[in-house]
Amino acid sequence: MEYRFASKISQVKSSAVRDILKLTQGSDLISFAGGLPAEELFPVQAVREAADRVFSGGTGSLQYGLTEGYIPLREQLTERMALKGMKTSPEEMILTTGSQQAISLLVEALTDPGDVVLVEKPTYLACLQVFQLHGLRVIAAESDEFGIVPEDAERLIREHKPKLLYAVPTFGNPTGKVWTTERRKQLLELCVRYGVPVLEDDPYGEIKYDADAEYPTMFSLDQAAGGNSVIYTSTFSKTVAPALRTGWAIGDAAVIQMMAKAKQAADIHSSAIDQQILHHLLKHFPLDEHIKVISSSYGERMREMQSLLQAQAIDGLTWIEPKGGMFLWVELPEGLDAETLLKVAVKKGVAFVPGSSFYGDDPQRNTARLNFTHNKGERTRIGVERLAEAIREFTARS
Ligand code: PMP
Repeated sequence: MEYRFASKISQVKSSAVRDILKLTQGSDLISFAGGLPAEELFPVQAVREAADRVFSGGTGSLQYGLTEGYIPLREQLTERMALKGMKTSPEEMILTTGSQQAISLLVEALTDPGDVVLVEKPTYLACLQVFQLHGLRVIAAESDEFGIVPEDAERLIREHKPKLLYAVPTFGNPTGKVWTTERRKQLLELCVRYGVPVLEDDPYGEIKYDADAEYPTMFSLDQAAGGNSVIYTSTFSKTVAPALRTGWAIGDAAVIQMMAKAKQAADIHSSAIDQQILHHLLKHFPLDEHIKVISSSYGERMREMQSLLQAQAIDGLTWIEPKGGMFLWVELPEGLDAETLLKVAVKKGVAFVPGSSFYGDDPQRNTARLNFTHNKGERTRIGVERLAEAIREFTARS
């Protein structure tokens, strides 16, 4: 049979990151492409002990669970959110299959095909896929070193009347940028004024290299001002392990209820086993200590990659040092198209994600995202050498 696929799925671009991951699996290619955490830092023993606790808890652990998620884990997360200035209750929270699903569910709850979503330029690639799948029009606002430029956001809001602002204000993907508190407030003020809900996606907020640095979430700023305009989502993917596929969203109870309805249709509930494992893990394992260990190791890896790149002294290669997260966003020498460079780089045995994947439209082609958390030491050194060789070969050619 020849299948006739839906136009909405045909519109979705395959993820460049996933495609590169497929290409690199099992080969000796060094990948700076995927946003993969360091495997050697996964708390395997603690997860195993937590799983043992789940399975010794009786047959109920294998039963269907609630769509909104395992209540004891929601209670623990409520406490963790309160420590970050976000007051919430288990009724204002839904556990999801990674925070990726929280993005999908909110889009289901708030938008119809043809609606507009406002994003930062550039933005997270897989959120663009969600928006494409739902037939949304993506409009990207200019962003400088402080975050989305409010004047540009206001112009676009007036012109396109978006149903949603999607933002990763703390250690964004791909740029690693942190929005200033001032910018967060300005964007919030705009969104409240024009009635645009905000989806604050915060998978990296706890991965900060300066443990004492504080970055107030937009959710907490909005709540402190008496608002309910922000839906906040985060995940255990970067702090514990992505295989557990557990994220959460908090927000106005009415929005969470609508997301739960969409989730009933999508998958009834996320893995109850994974949620129970995380419940026991949070109870018995010093997660905050673990997060400090990961963050400090990632900070070292970032500095390592940065000094290796500096040592290559490539003319026109620039970046801003990130203060957290998992990525270095580099600008390549002017005129160098990262997609073309990638082909040369893969032949030399190194991969990265061309920046163009992170733009809704009008990409800046001489940009690339380098992940520094999955490799270290020798592999990072060799990877950077291969990358530098590819850039030189390319620039010599053109
Ligand atoms: N949002 C952003 C900005 C991300 O970088 C990621 C992971 N790549 C996610 C959401 C989804 O993460 P997960 O579904 O594993 O929680």
